[in-house]
Amino acid sequence: MTTQKKVLGVYGAGSEHWVGDGFPVRNLFPSNGVSSEINPFLMLDYAGPSYFDPSKRQHGVGQHPHRGFETVTIAYQGSVSHRDSAGNAGTIYPGDVQWMTAASGVVHEEMHAKEFAEKGGTFEMVQLWVNLPRAVKMSSPRYQGITAEQIPTVTLSASGKARIIAGELNGVKGPAKTFSPVNVFDVELKAGDAAEIALRAGHNAAAVLLKGSVVLNGSQLSGEARIATLGREGENITLVASEDSKLLVLSGEPINEPVASYGPFVMNTQEELVQAFEDYKSGRMGHLA
Ligand code: MN
Repeated sequence: MTTQKKVLGVYGAGSEHWVGDGFPVRNLFPSNGVSSEINPFLMLDYAGPSYFDPSKRQHGVGQHPHRGFETVTIAYQGSVSHRDSAGNAGTIYPGDVQWMTAASGVVHEEMHAKEFAEKGGTFEMVQLWVNLPRAVKMSSPRYQGITAEQIPTVTLSASGKARIIAGELNGVKGPAKTFSPVNVFDVELKAGDAAEIALRAGHNAAAVLLKGSVVLNGSQLSGEARIATLGREGENITLVASEDSKLLVLSGEPINEPVASYGPFVMNTQEELVQAFEDYKSGRMGHLA
């Protein structure tokens, strides 16, 4: 017999701010106090949906460093171009995902793609930060540009479906390579759909409602930019949608190591943070060409 994961809490965005001049975000953790209960996930920003006028200049965030974790960008509307000091570059379009492993360190920029900037339009993305285990924090950076075509879909109900970006659902595996067990499911339900999603016992988990109205294991989430955190016990969740709804379902094996974080660096100790800052300052994370 399977048991449901318990809803620990339901939260709205803790802060709303701009990242650079391209990403008007609602932060769904950790600014609202949700943090260790969703380890190995560190941060989630929901950008937009926001309209941008046509512009000759590309909006976005100019070069900045990261070390010790991964940034995962999921495109819903609009397109983003990435370029980093490890020599990787790519543009993602609606349905695509960029899974960027900063590991030992990169300097990168994240800009609205040129063609999007020129035409203007509605922009909507999610950026999720995933922690790395200590053993691989200083490994080489990696870039996975994952196209919509590479992401398999699992049918959940009459018209409900989940795109499996990372991890596995009902035997269907997602394309993202991860360093610890992580599930990232992009879920769409129509009004009236009821869906059951199997998640691993022992994983921390959360459901992020981008838009819509669902009852999740008996708890209501409605509107935009809401998150429900879930307990480690239990193997599944049920979602009943009363409106068309878009969600991200996240689960991951907890990384039971100390976390020391400062801005764009997430390490295990204060000393490693100081080292990260020095390495960035002295150019050891590289430069953009
Ligand atoms: Mn970044």
